Amino acid sequence: MYARVIVDIQASQVDRVFDYAIPPAYEGRVLPGTRVSVPFGSRRGVEGFVVALTEETQVPLSRIRPLNRLLDPEPVLLPAMLDLAYWVRDTYHCLLVDALRLMLPAEMRGGRVREKTETWISLGDLPAWEEVEGLLARSPALLRALRLLREEGGTLPLPKLRQVSPLSAGQLDKLTARGWVRLEEVSCRRRPYTRIVGEESGPPPATHDQERAVAAVCQAIDRGRGAFLLHGVTGSGKTEVYMRCAQHALDEGKGVLILVPEIALTPQMVARFTGRFGSRAAVLHSRLSAGERYDEWRRIRRGEAQVVIGARSAVFAPLAEPGLIVVDEEHENSYRSEHTPRYDAVEVARRRADSEGAVLLAGSATPSVARYHEALAGRYTLLTMPWRIGGRPMPPVAVVDMREELLHGNRSMFSGRLVSELHRCLQAGEQAILFMNRRGYASFVSCRACGYVVKCQDCDLSMTYHKHGERLICHYCGREQPAPQVCPACGSRAIKQFGGGTERIQEEVLRHFPEVRVLRMDADTTRGKEGHLPILEAFGRGEAQVLVGTQMVAKGLDFPRVTLVGVVAADMSLYSSDYRAAERTFDLIAQVAGRAGRSERPGTVVVQTYAPEHPSIQAAARHDYEGFYQGEIQGRELAQLPPFANFYRLMLQHERPETADGDLEELSRRLDALLQEHPQWQKRILLRQGGTAPVERIRGVSRRQILIKAAAIPLMAEAEAALAALAREPLPGNSVIWLEVNPVNML
Ligand code: ADP
Ligand code: ZN
Ligand code: ZN
Repeated sequence: MYARVIVDIQASQVDRVFDYAIPPAYEGRVLPGTRVSVPFGSRRGVEGFVVALTEETQVPLSRIRPLNRLLDPEPVLLPAMLDLAYWVRDTYHCLLVDALRLMLPAEMRGGRVREKTETWISLGDLPAWEEVEGLLARSPALLRALRLLREEGGTLPLPKLRQVSPLSAGQLDKLTARGWVRLEEVSCRRRPYTRIVGEESGPPPATHDQERAVAAVCQAIDRGRGAFLLHGVTGSGKTEVYMRCAQHALDEGKGVLILVPEIALTPQMVARFTGRFGSRAAVLHSRLSAGERYDEWRRIRRGEAQVVIGARSAVFAPLAEPGLIVVDEEHENSYRSEHTPRYDAVEVARRRADSEGAVLLAGSATPSVARYHEALAGRYTLLTMPWRIGGRPMPPVAVVDMREELLHGNRSMFSGRLVSELHRCLQAGEQAILFMNRRGYASFVSCRACGYVVKCQDCDLSMTYHKHGERLICHYCGREQPAPQVCPACGSRAIKQFGGGTERIQEEVLRHFPEVRVLRMDADTTRGKEGHLPILEAFGRGEAQVLVGTQMVAKGLDFPRVTLVGVVAADMSLYSSDYRAAERTFDLIAQVAGRAGRSERPGTVVVQTYAPEHPSIQAAARHDYEGFYQGEIQGRELAQLPPFANFYRLMLQHERPETADGDLEELSRRLDALLQEHPQWQKRILLRQGGTAPVERIRGVSRRQILIKAAAIPLMAEAEAALAALAREPLPGNSVIWLEVNPVNML
């Protein structure tokens, strides 16, 4: 037998299997999915994955080398995951090794984390106790240690024993030499989220809508196939549906994977699941320490945890026999990876469900337009929950025209309506959430005399003013510099801040209501390991009346005392050049609005905008997803936008702009040649542009692109693969190049 190995080296020249002989000592223990160390070229030990075993090899026997050793006692990759890795490679045009790397905690590679162990001390063969006392009469420390061990049932962690009786290494040796005690390394687990233990409350009786949805999904779980799109308004009780379906899968002896967007993976959210499923649940999260992540991963791999809750990358959790895969808030962009491999976790979940006999349950209050379109076409079974729990009404939404406010001389960030609603809310002892899609104090700094805008030196983007520390920060690369007092271009003192951010809103609230406590939640205030936790807990305990924040406050939060939600600048997402701008605006307003009035107290939403007549804003104010969808899908069909067409973007970057330009020309020539060979593809191309990317420079690197829009028809899968191959060909100037398909971010 020979092992076919993919070496863990990220280079396309070596992205193929290499055969190795299996030394007799490892006979029978090398299985597909095992990690091994192999000699490779002149290197003595390189990590690799066994992807298959074979009895025959093309390599001449004289040249075949034995593998060095196994890296783990058992295969780390399940057969289904190996299969998935090949699918990821083919679907997202990456190296197999890139796909395989997704399947393991990064820390495992290179042996950077190991199992954490602790030394335990246990009693061995002891003579009669009187005899021990006699023998140790002159060693009170030893005697005390043995007595403690006896009292504690014969075994203790060594550090604990040493706290009571500080034994030296020599004294320990004496005891072990006599066989009176044994020392053992015991593996111990780093358990994250030990601080939050969800309460073990029984599930509430399901509503009719919930029952209907649960029944449909559970039947599918029993059949072992199905894909559902659960469209339920905010507060309709989708989470309860997930949990009931999960319980059913567990009862059937199957595993459950629950994906939530990174920012929604709050302690609140986790506690709801750990409260229901206790120690059967594992959490995978980027904020975990390397050790914690590794331990949770192993608990899943060993079958000790059958419910996995995690963000995007958890779709690759080593769960055997999944029966249900839930994707909450399926419309969220964070399910799309923006680095190689550029995978879409919802698509991966779909593929896993289909090939491993599981059911996919994707849920959202504002389904992505593309997915809803698929559901209507029959690719997903649509389930709807149009009512909030307890018959609570959706909160009324007041759309405030900020142009009117300006006309009436109100230049502040708050409309009269928002201030009066805040007043009412605070008087009643209730809480408010104010949403703004940008952190910092002002969105940009510009000179009134000459029009100069302060941009980042390394990026082609304006810098954001942060009042805290009087600094300008580039939100792309993180560059910071002091805010200028005079215009760097013309020397005028008329250099001013424009636009607003969360910092400024916080200040504005305090200007109107000096007595009120305001918390702010954005990337600036959630840096630490605990992240959102302290802020959310404080708000939940009622230590502040107002919470100001970015997208982080828009999603999933469930605070019963919140009765007012203010969207301070609703159109900020409307004017981006992205074709999904309208979808994002609808989604944001609908989601933020969903935070209000979630308990007996009714809620109100105030949406401030300069475009009150915009269809997205109008539909969101009516809580009318259907209406929004119908208008949007018609518009997309007319304009030939996804899902009726696809965007392909060949991105290219280089430190030197001239080199980037030269390489872009060469790439364009190669594309011409490719299309000449395939006239049938040429015919499908609706648009082709080449030149600088919308953001010309990021972190000092010049960016160029070729943007192609092509009709979405099956034939294009082949064309897509050809474009991906083009993106792997080195260019004369060695620019970095990659392919994006319908990118989340078109900048
Ligand atoms: P969604 O995820 O759809 O926005 P949630 O799952 O957060 O909604 O549910 C909203 C609230 O309703 C939560 O506080 C939840 O505990 C509660 N809830 C859910 N289902 C029921 C039910 N069947 N009976 C009573 N309360 C419920
Ligand atoms: Zn100036
Ligand atoms: Zn920058």
